[in-house]
Amino acid sequence: MLPVTVLEQAGRELLDWQASGMSVMEISHRSAAFMSVAQTAEADLRALLAIPDRYKVLFLQGGATLQFAAIPLNLAKADATLAYINTGVWSQKAIAEARRYNPVTVVADSAAEKFMDVPAARHFDLAEGTPYLHYTANETIGGTEFPYIPDSGDTPLVADMSSTLLSRPLDVSRFGLIYAGAQKNIGPSGLTVVIVREDLIGHSRPELPAVMNYALQAAEGSMANTPPTYAWYLAGLVFKWLKAEGGLAVIGERNRQKAQRLYDYIDGSGYYQSPVASHCRSWMNVPFRLADATLEGCFTQEAAAAGLTNLEGHRSVGGMRASIYNAMPLAGIDALVDFMRGFAARYG
Ligand SMILES: *Cc1c(COP(=O)(O)O)cnc(C)c1O
Repeated sequence: MLPVTVLEQAGRELLDWQASGMSVMEISHRSAAFMSVAQTAEADLRALLAIPDRYKVLFLQGGATLQFAAIPLNLAKADATLAYINTGVWSQKAIAEARRYNPVTVVADSAAEKFMDVPAARHFDLAEGTPYLHYTANETIGGTEFPYIPDSGDTPLVADMSSTLLSRPLDVSRFGLIYAGAQKNIGPSGLTVVIVREDLIGHSRPELPAVMNYALQAAEGSMANTPPTYAWYLAGLVFKWLKAEGGLAVIGERNRQKAQRLYDYIDGSGYYQSPVASHCRSWMNVPFRLADATLEGCFTQEAAAAGLTNLEGHRSVGGMRASIYNAMPLAGIDALVDFMRGFAARYG
């Protein structure tokens, strides 16, 4: 979900952006007008997250999935062993891709808990020369979210924050690299944000493709080739919206309330069930089960008829999942809870 006011503004500006007589899609990415869109978006993102100057902010393509490969190719020599934490589907995809380029050790995982929990906080004492420790801050499919930032000591920490970046305040200085596909909480698909500490880039392998090269992209203002200009523009509008809403402290408190209201209802319902350990439940993706799994099709059909859509769990796990990203208002949670209460009364 994107904020309605953002979509309305994009709609108003679609045919005639800033009295140019053109769509922002139709202007050159190297024009002064688009440069200003790009730079304003970066400045607003930096302000929202208080990103220190020693970090580069890149606006790339290829989704988080391309970063699964770009990260080892940029940050690790071919013989270095990478450290990963495995908490579910997205961690596993990141690990599988990294293994195409480097040896990987999984230093912690929650497989024994069927990925319905995250490993307990501890200090990771990683071998000297480990290029980085990677983790998935929010497992979008499983619905677990780290309630803490892993302690990797002097080893740079790399985080896939695709489904949690901008959902609450974050201490960027704890990380070597943060990346996020835009389509969860930032804007439309087609754009990927990478925030990377300056000293980590510029040591890549020779075979690294140019468009994946952080040092090159940083030097070229993320325009080593044509960037996804319309997605970048829309992300910029979302950043403006976040600032107008009061910034990440306000958004974070709202997200906390939204998630708590939904989990409280699920836990007290006697009909629905959350499969995730209570201390690491995602604020963004809330999977839940019905007491009778054969009614799932009926639930999604009736929910859709009531205007509540996209509630199917990921095709790999089934069940239900409510994704309640930043743009979902508290009223959306209330509407879902009302529907769930009615459904449980009719079928429970
Ligand atoms: C959606 C998602 C991805 C994949 O993103 P793409 O942009 O489709 O490549 C990776 N990691 C997490 C945590 C996600 O939620």
